[in-house]
Amino acid sequence: MMWHMFKFDDTYSNSRITDLYTQEEERTVQINAPRLGFEYINLRGVTINPEALGVIPVAKAHAFNITSFELNQNKLSVAAKQPNSPQVQAYLKELENQHYELTVYICSTASLTYAWSRYTDITDSTAEKKGVFQISTEDISRLMNAIKKKEDVTEILRGISSINNTRRVSETLELIFAGALALGASDIHIEPEESVIRLRYRFDGVLHDITDIESYIYGRLMSRLKLLSGMVLNTKAEAQDGRFTFDIESRQVEVRSSVIPGATAESIVMRLLDPSLSTFSMDRIQLNPYIEKVMHQELKKPNGLIITTGPTGSGKTTALYAFLREVHSEGVKIITIENPVEYKIEGIVQTQIGDDYTFANGLRAILRQDPDIIMIGEIRDREVAETAIHAAQTGHLVFSTLHTNSAVAGFARLIDLGIDPRVMGTSINIIIGQRLVRLLCADCKTAYQATSDEKQLITHVMEGHPHPIAVSDPLTIYKSTGCKKCGGTGYRGRIGIFEGVVMDDAVEEAVLRDPREHIIATAAKPQGIPTMIEDGIEKVVKGLTSLQELERVIELPYLAIKKPLAITPTQPLAGEEADELDFFSHVV
Ligand SMILES: [Zn+2]
Repeated sequence: MMWHMFKFDDTYSNSRITDLYTQEEERTVQINAPRLGFEYINLRGVTINPEALGVIPVAKAHAFNITSFELNQNKLSVAAKQPNSPQVQAYLKELENQHYELTVYICSTASLTYAWSRYTDITDSTAEKKGVFQISTEDISRLMNAIKKKEDVTEILRGISSINNTRRVSETLELIFAGALALGASDIHIEPEESVIRLRYRFDGVLHDITDIESYIYGRLMSRLKLLSGMVLNTKAEAQDGRFTFDIESRQVEVRSSVIPGATAESIVMRLLDPSLSTFSMDRIQLNPYIEKVMHQELKKPNGLIITTGPTGSGKTTALYAFLREVHSEGVKIITIENPVEYKIEGIVQTQIGDDYTFANGLRAILRQDPDIIMIGEIRDREVAETAIHAAQTGHLVFSTLHTNSAVAGFARLIDLGIDPRVMGTSINIIIGQRLVRLLCADCKTAYQATSDEKQLITHVMEGHPHPIAVSDPLTIYKSTGCKKCGGTGYRGRIGIFEGVVMDDAVEEAVLRDPREHIIATAAKPQGIPTMIEDGIEKVVKGLTSLQELERVIELPYLAIKKPLAITPTQPLAGEEADELDFFSHVV
C-alpha cells in the first residue's frame, strides 16, 4: 500500500561497501559544513518530531533533499544536503513566508533517509495533496472483516498495544476507522480523560463506548489526525475544523473532523460521510427498470406514504435522498426531520431531532409549516407512524424508512406499531426493500461454470422472476479474485438490489385479510416487480456481482431447494413445503 512505499528500514544495510560509503559521505559533509556556512547535524541521533516533519510534504522533501525535524512554536529546524542551492534557498523562503522562523543545518544523505523514514509515522507519499489521505486499504479491509461487534475492536487493540514501534500509531488509526466502517458508525469520538482516552462511535443514532486508548499514543494520534484534516498542529487551545477523504473498497469516505480544547487535552469528533450521497440522483441509485418505472409514477402523486426498508447500511436513506431530489422543484415546500441531518440538500428545509425535538413532536410542528412533502428519517414508534399516516392522508407526500428485512414485512411492522390495517390502503403508496451488493471488479473477475447446486438455485429463482432472463446450460457466472485496482478485494463499487410492493386492491385486500409476508407477496405478484433475490440473481447471471456476495447481504433460498431435492428427492412436495418454497422465494 501507499505508505509502505516509504517504509525504510531503520537498520542500515549490512553491506560493508555501503557502510564505508555512508561513513565517507558523513565525514565529508561534516568537514565541509563550516566552509559552506552551516552547522552540521547527524539526524540519526536525533528524535524526529512528527509535527515538524509534517511541515514539509514528502514530495518537496525528496525534490529538494531537505527535511524538518524540530518545531517549537514557529521555530522550525531544517536540514538539507545542499542548503545553498538556489532551489533549496527558494523553498526556504517559501517556508519563511509561511511564518516559520528557520534554523538551517547541513546533513548527509543518510540523515535525510533516516528522517524521511519517519513519514510513515505521520502520513503517506500522496499526502502533499492537502487533506487527501491514502489510508492502507488492505489493512482496513482486513480489519473490517474481523470486526463483527464492538468488543472485537477492544480485542484487536489489545494486540496492537504490544507493538513497540511507529506502526503502533498507524495500526491504531487504521483500527479506529475500520471499526467505525465495519460497525456502520456515523461519528468517531476520541475523548481524553485523566488517565485514559475514550473511543466512542455513534451508530444507529446512539453513542456507544467502544474502548480505551492508552494515553501513551494519544499525542501522536492527534498529530496524525490533525495533519490529515489539514489543521494547524501547534495550536492546542483553539477549536478547529477540517476534513479529509480516503478510499475504501472502492467507495470514497469523507471525514469531517472537529477538534475542541478540553480540560485535560483536545478531543476530536470525526463524522464519516459518503460524498457520493449528496449528489445522489435517481440515475445514480440504479433502480432496475421495473421498479424505476413504478417509482416515477409514485413520485408524481401529490400525497401518500413512500417507505424504504432495510437494515442499517442498506442504502435506504440514500434512496430517500434521491427521491427527494427528484421531487424537489420550485414551488414545492419540502421539510425533513432527520437523526441527524447528514447531507444538506439545497432548497430543502432540513431539521434534526434533539432533546426536545423528537420525531413525534417535530413532525407535528412541521405539519404547521404547511409543507407539500415531508421526509421522516425513520418510523420507529406508534406516535410517529400515526402522524406519518395522518400526514399522508391529509394531502402530503411523505417519505420515510422502516427497519425491516423486506418490503412485504413493512406492512406487518406498521400493524405491530399500532396502525389500523384499514387505513393503509388509502395512505400507503409503495414500500420498497433494498440491499447494496458489491460489484465484481471488472479487471479481475473470474468466469467459471456454475456448480449444479448453484445452477439449481439460479434456475429456481429465475422461474419466479416476472421478467426472467435466459439461464444457459452450462451456465457461466463470475467470482471475485482480487487485483491492484480493487485493492485485492475483488470488488469495486456497489449497486442496489431492489423490490417493491405497490398498494393496489389485491395488496389492500391481503393486508386486511392476512398480512403475513408470503400472502402479501402472492397478492403483489401480478405487479411484475422482481424481489430483491430475483433482482440479485439477475445481476449474478449478468456478471455484475457474485453469488457469494449476494449471499453475504441476503438469505438465499438454498435450504428450500435442497430439502426436497437432496433429502427426499422422490417425494412429492407436501402442501406446507410447497408453501415454504414459495415463501422463501419472496422473503428474506
Ligand atoms: Zn480487481
